[in-house]
Amino acid sequence: MNRPGVKKLKMVTLLCLAAGLFSMDSFAGYNGRFYSCAQNERNIMVEREILALSRTRKLKQEISSVLASGLLSNDLTKRFQKSVSVLSCVEQKLGKLSIECESRSLWCQWTGAVAYANFLGAFFGAPQIIFCHWDGSYFYPQHTSISDSSTLFHEYTHWCGTKDIDPRTRPNANGDRPGLRWEDNVEVYVDWYKNGLYTPGI
Ligand SMILES: [Zn+2]
Repeated sequence: MNRPGVKKLKMVTLLCLAAGLFSMDSFAGYNGRFYSCAQNERNIMVEREILALSRTRKLKQEISSVLASGLLSNDLTKRFQKSVSVLSCVEQKLGKLSIECESRSLWCQWTGAVAYANFLGAFFGAPQIIFCHWDGSYFYPQHTSISDSSTLFHEYTHWCGTKDIDPRTRPNANGDRPGLRWEDNVEVYVDWYKNGLYTPGI
């Protein structure tokens, strides 16, 4: 998840993996699964996870009823089944991944990211989701809105196989991007999360 308006290096999975190498900077202050998180930041994060859990379940139920209706084509049935499995994975992981709140990693500096999923770093024991230290803006305002929790949801879905889009590409008539089907596209899940379920490409 990138900050709006920040010119960023948009690189996909491989470099996301490389990011792990540069993220093991500042995760002292370990407290349970939270690293470098003040008490209020931990509370906010948990609140956002709780909201994300209820919205994830709601989306899953909505898709399940569409599937149960039997009105979808075989292709769409398979694609929505895949998205149910992504959402089930998010449901299982919510509240369990380790999180760093105030990272000053090189990856944060280079990309201007708000947050990222730290795959390779996590392999070496670093936190699994990293929030970058900027001006603490992710934690203000301190209430939990759908939009605030969608950033966390975005990162959780990466741990369930979704990929970031290349912003230079446009969706085709089926809602897919070049090399990225919509059921693997993080943007589709975040859009459903914020605005409700729809069939991409229609
Ligand atoms: Zn992302």
